[in-house]
Amino acid sequence: MNSSPSGKRMEPALASRRVVIKVGSSVLTAPDEEGVNRRVLGRIASQVAELRRAGREVVLVSSGAIAAGSKRMGVQGAPKGMPERQAAAAVGQPILMEAYGRAFRRRGVETAQLLLTHADLDLRIRFLNACNTFEALLARGVLPIVNENDTVSVEEIRFGDNDTLAALVAQMVKAGLVIILSDVEGLYDADPRRNPSARLIRRVEGLPAEVAEKAGTSANPLAHGGMVTKVRAVKVLNRMGIATLIVRGRTPNILLRALGRGEEGTLFIPNGAPLRARKGWIGTTVIPRLRDPKGRPVARGLANYGAEEVNRIAGRHTGEIVAILGGKDYDEVVHRDNLVLLD
Ligand code: GLU
Repeated sequence: MNSSPSGKRMEPALASRRVVIKVGSSVLTAPDEEGVNRRVLGRIASQVAELRRAGREVVLVSSGAIAAGSKRMGVQGAPKGMPERQAAAAVGQPILMEAYGRAFRRRGVETAQLLLTHADLDLRIRFLNACNTFEALLARGVLPIVNENDTVSVEEIRFGDNDTLAALVAQMVKAGLVIILSDVEGLYDADPRRNPSARLIRRVEGLPAEVAEKAGTSANPLAHGGMVTKVRAVKVLNRMGIATLIVRGRTPNILLRALGRGEEGTLFIPNGAPLRARKGWIGTTVIPRLRDPKGRPVARGLANYGAEEVNRIAGRHTGEIVAILGGKDYDEVVHRDNLVLLD
């Protein structure tokens, strides 16, 4: 471990060369502010530029399209219904990228926009292609800025929140650390909005149930996730062996302070053996297919048979498959090599 200026030992995860930084809607826009807050965005851009000069490779995952679009269209509060959200995203995404493009170009950094849907990554070949695109951009020193492709993401293929998207992007680029810029300092042992003596939890190893239960929802109607989706993302990242740091995005110089001194926010350190790349993709990215009788997802896997065929052979012996389906390519619906149990 390195030591920080205050003499404390630094966590190795904070020294990761490749870092994914997730910027929440509530950082870029507050209910009483116009569109995107360019001053806040400019501060983030100058810190990212400085991190890059110091040798870090950065990928940004930024929310804010729906919030910016809603404000531009004069929608009060959060847009209601999927088409309204999609329309707001269509208006807001160019506003967001224009603001980023300008802020970064002024600091000598070229940006690229990547819009992804869950369905894009559900196929291994597309997932690997997207990984290659990230590598090509990073190799050329371009800053990838990722968002969900909200305008075409219907419910079944949505990531739903950018915390989850950031976790999957981190897996794609093999980052060592994800920094979530949020509207709160980190994870507290009680809800700080209701309980003034709530204390910030500085470091969490693994994700004990009593810690996960402390997660609440966001107070900002334009922000999507609150702490619940962050904790869900931490769970995914833990399985991949990637650390997560949650900090308050509007705190001046927060990125430089968090990575320099290592004394900001809540740091989640993964424990246990990480899943290997392919199993990681199956366990975290593939859309869940295997549910228990109550409909709760129990595992993710690559199925050898379609849903209709599975209905016909469920509960029957392998030896009966030929008679039922008229042929048999596989003995298993999901082979154990292609199966990851969820916890
Ligand atoms: N993709 C959404 C947007 O850009 C945000 C989703 C989220 O906040 O997690 O507005």
